[in-house]
Amino acid sequence: MKRILFTAALLLCALSGLAQIREPIDTVMGPDSSAIIMFSDKTWEFESEYIQKDTVYADWVESAFEPQQIPLNQIPDTVFLDLKDSMGIFCCPYVGVPSSRYGYRHRRRHQGIDIPYPTGTPVVAAFDGVVVKSGYIGGYGNLVAIRHYNGLETYYGHFSRRDVVVGDWVTAGEQIGLGGSTGRSTGPHLHFEVRYKGYPFDPERLVEFTDGRLRADSLVIIKRFFGANSRFGIDDYIKLDSLAEASKPQVVYHTVRSGDTLGGIAKKYRTTVGQICRLNNISSNKILRIGQRLRVK
Ligand SMILES: [Zn+2]
Repeated sequence: MKRILFTAALLLCALSGLAQIREPIDTVMGPDSSAIIMFSDKTWEFESEYIQKDTVYADWVESAFEPQQIPLNQIPDTVFLDLKDSMGIFCCPYVGVPSSRYGYRHRRRHQGIDIPYPTGTPVVAAFDGVVVKSGYIGGYGNLVAIRHYNGLETYYGHFSRRDVVVGDWVTAGEQIGLGGSTGRSTGPHLHFEVRYKGYPFDPERLVEFTDGRLRADSLVIIKRFFGANSRFGIDDYIKLDSLAEASKPQVVYHTVRSGDTLGGIAKKYRTTVGQICRLNNISSNKILRIGQRLRVK
């Protein structure tokens, strides 16, 4: 409400042309979601309930369960997100050893990570945010989903009990439910997903689940992360391997057949006799043997 009043005041100022535009230039966070907002006209305001609701409620339809995916071509190729700063902390929902990772398994897409635990284990919100889904939803069983201030969404599936309802504001580390095995599940485990604009990507890009550590205070999301098999680690190694492969000189051999001459071979591979001689440490008048392997590139 306060924000709306500010906006109205700004509009009035702009319309009357009497004062310079007063816009927020910096925000200093205080305790308990309070903030001091500094304005361009050297004034400041104290807000006791400062929450970035614009980001949290963007393209969210309360009645729809299906993620509100915007077309992929409307998402920038690279997105930079702050995960942890003076405004919020991270709390690992559950620290444990993953039993199933992001990517295809048994020809089915797995768009999260599974971490086994006993039924009844408390699960906490990863970051501050608002509960956007809380219900029994198909294969997820009892599902809670939270949208965070930076635009990320986290999903927690297979709960035996949900402790929050849609619209609840939660802080990082707050209990949101108890672990279980509801929905399509073969044993009690946390199914945890991270999504951006409705698109899931590998949660291990953010978190090392075995020790509950956030890998970095910020995250760079690259569009290819949304690929169903774009797994943290493996995917990056594949990329490095293919780069190394591409930078390696290409090696080609020719097996000498009846009638081959050095000149003919050189012409065939678009190289020179001198180059073939250097590669094989031979002289240009060397007699070729049938079946002999010559490096030509
Ligand atoms: Zn799962």
